[in-house]
Amino acid sequence: MKIAIVGTGYVGLVTGTCFAEVGIDVTCIDINTAKIEGLNNGIMPIYEPGLEEMVRRNVEKGRLQFSTSLQDSLKDCEAVFIAVGTPPGEDGSADLKYVLAVATEVGRYMEDYLVVVTKSTVPVGTARKVDQAIKNALNERGTYVPYDVASNPEFLKEGAAIDDFLKPDRIVVGVESERAEEIMRRLYKPFLLNGHPIIFMDIPSAEMTKYAANAMLATKISFMNDIANLCEIMGANVNLVRKGIGSDTRIGQKFIYPGIGYGGSCFPKDVKALIKTAEENGYPMRVLQAVEEVNYSQKEVIYNKIKSHFGDLAGKKFAMWGLSFKPNTDDMREAPSLVIIDALLKEGAEVIAYDPVAMTEAKHHVGDTIKYARDAYEACIDADALLLITEWPEFRSPNFEVLAKLLKNKVIFDGRNIYESEQMSEMDFTYYAIGVKSRT
Ligand code: NAD
Repeated sequence: MKIAIVGTGYVGLVTGTCFAEVGIDVTCIDINTAKIEGLNNGIMPIYEPGLEEMVRRNVEKGRLQFSTSLQDSLKDCEAVFIAVGTPPGEDGSADLKYVLAVATEVGRYMEDYLVVVTKSTVPVGTARKVDQAIKNALNERGTYVPYDVASNPEFLKEGAAIDDFLKPDRIVVGVESERAEEIMRRLYKPFLLNGHPIIFMDIPSAEMTKYAANAMLATKISFMNDIANLCEIMGANVNLVRKGIGSDTRIGQKFIYPGIGYGGSCFPKDVKALIKTAEENGYPMRVLQAVEEVNYSQKEVIYNKIKSHFGDLAGKKFAMWGLSFKPNTDDMREAPSLVIIDALLKEGAEVIAYDPVAMTEAKHHVGDTIKYARDAYEACIDADALLLITEWPEFRSPNFEVLAKLLKNKVIFDGRNIYESEQMSEMDFTYYAIGVKSRT
């Protein structure tokens, strides 16, 4: 089987590489020439555990290619996946210009039957627009080529993307013809062998499923952050409350960790887009509006704690551990670290950050307004406090005796609740966490 993936970002590159891994002939396409040149020279545009090795292996086997030309890559393909970005427009709705530009290009160059699959996260009704864009392009050519549109939203998590793709909880496919369903089933068959389900449905339901999934996950996070803030006010410990509720199987242990708000390229934009879709159709998404509101204020929780501890922040120096929006990725989009950095710099404070992989990417967002350390401990030298922002594994069990010597003040603000209050207090650290009474 031969397929093309248009858009070689987090989703496109992982999707293409995993399809190649199971023996499919894949071309990943991007308009970013530097990205494609880099990939053709073995340089990864993103950090994702295990991806580099898998790309190299499949390129060597001749199953994975990279190109800037959709026209050349479509020949003999049975399916083309659209995996370009769908960033929020000014009003919060998903901007479909990249998706529709690809659809037009497909219509311009296709020669034989194709399933045109939207993998990008797109609002209900987008498949119809994709269909129309292809039709228009074919009309302009004065020709007709048979095709089907399909929706195949992606559920991978950055940081665990390969595992998620190879062993999916489920694969959701929206189709409206038997021919398209047969091709999609054949394409995904290698991933179903260990009982991983594929769920076929109509296209609008598939489009909605992705938004509903992300909105539910964002809701769990904001709900737990709200509970955490109340715990703090009432003298309860959210870490214990979490265990207490998570052991109820109807609630479950996953995704109920309090923190400093959700970030990344998906939750913030998808929650916004769903609110907008609903608004455009005369229905207010009241729960999601509150989810967003809680998330905005949660990103400021650590800053507020710092401010009330220190008062004047001018000239203060803060060690920041972690910059990416979550561990195991270099993705900085909507990262809570950016909100905290901005607030601290505005107050005249200095930030010295360390992140195992995201510092290069962080420079694209904050440049040299902050300093970057070579390792976690270097960041702490003479710092007024340590801010734990992203729970990378290497930050979980630091040498606190070394930290005590390096820091100017033994103060830790833990945005992810990864340290134990009792241990912190035994070691004489002033310790602030989320939803837990601070130890001073
Ligand atoms: P990304 O920004 O990392 O990658 C998008 C790529 O598309 C870029 O490399 C860009 O150059 C390329 N592109 C844009 N227009 C193009 C065109 N006309 N032709 C060829 N290439 C083009 O984005 P991403 O994070 O991979 O997300 C892609 C989509 O998948 C979004 O809709 C997103 O919501 C969704 N999604 C993302 C994740 C995630 O974890 N990142 C997970 C599930 C779904």
